[in-house]
Amino acid sequence: MKPTAFDYYAPSTLKGVLELKAQHGEDAKPLAGGQSLIPTMNFRVTQPSILVDLNAVDELRFIEGKDGDLRIGAMTTQNVVERSELVSDLQPLIAETIPYVAHPQIRNRGTFGGSLAHADPASELPAIALALNAKFKAVSLSGERWVEAQDFLITMFTVDLQPDEILAEIAFPNFPKTTGWSFMEVSRRMGDYAMAGVAALLSLDAAGKCEYARLVYLNVGDKAMDAVNAAGALVGEEINEESINAAAEIAGEEEIDPFGSVHASPEYQRHLSKVVTRRALREAHQRASNSVK
Ligand code: FAD
Repeated sequence: MKPTAFDYYAPSTLKGVLELKAQHGEDAKPLAGGQSLIPTMNFRVTQPSILVDLNAVDELRFIEGKDGDLRIGAMTTQNVVERSELVSDLQPLIAETIPYVAHPQIRNRGTFGGSLAHADPASELPAIALALNAKFKAVSLSGERWVEAQDFLITMFTVDLQPDEILAEIAFPNFPKTTGWSFMEVSRRMGDYAMAGVAALLSLDAAGKCEYARLVYLNVGDKAMDAVNAAGALVGEEINEESINAAAEIAGEEEIDPFGSVHASPEYQRHLSKVVTRRALREAHQRASNSVK
């Protein structure tokens, strides 16, 4: 199918984009990499009357580090983030996760901000942005505001952006070198959307017990699912097979809410979530142990 008719604008400045958003609001849909938007337009699920192409706006493409914090411009392609040494140095979880996002051809066009603004619960980037306590910079002609990840990612395909705003930048706070990390997912083929996946973070105290844990899941609910009880059950404990299994059970049975699909029933997604939890916690624990030696 072909999309319905639309007007097309390609401003070369952020101000030009924001003027169009101020004038047309929700009717003016930002076009980033087009890897999600264009298919939905072709299926006529989305029928914007105006497309505002962000690709000529160079000021939205950057990767910067300051005092351990990492800032990524919304229009930076996933491929550029994947190859950035600064990203792998400051935020290894991002570097390790990006190759799971679709295929290289899609990451060449798909943008970091586009995936986050799209907020597909099956996507990897919302889950890791939540796990890493990212902050989102929304801008309009009236100014800018920063939104915490848990507030920005409202629900499936819905984020905290007003009709006159766009997402300009995503900031990641300093990632302590003593934190162990892991990203694990299971998909039918490399590059497919995962049937279930998890981002795990873990740090240990001087006695080797868990002092911090985070478990955030993808594609097992209406948004990235933050399993706070499972992570909380690990804190103060030795990390061993018993505590790892207990956390996997809490997350898989009580905290996620999978819908199921043609590829996996909800029961199978719960099973996979427990499997990836165990694998991810073992790897995060290993990395945390290495860092405190
Ligand atoms: P677009 O498609 O251009 O935009 C998506 C939405 O976000 C639109 O509503 C648009 O208006 C809005 N938007 C974009 N940028 C902004 C902004 N700066 N401010 C406000 N709103 C904005 N993704 C995964 O995570 N995992 C996968 O495994 C995966 N597999 C895929 C497989 C295929 C075959 C395809 C085609 C895509 C796949 N994707 C997957 C999606 C891909 O990662 C997209 O790149 C991503 O979802 C959207 O990024 P984009 O830059 O293409 O955004």
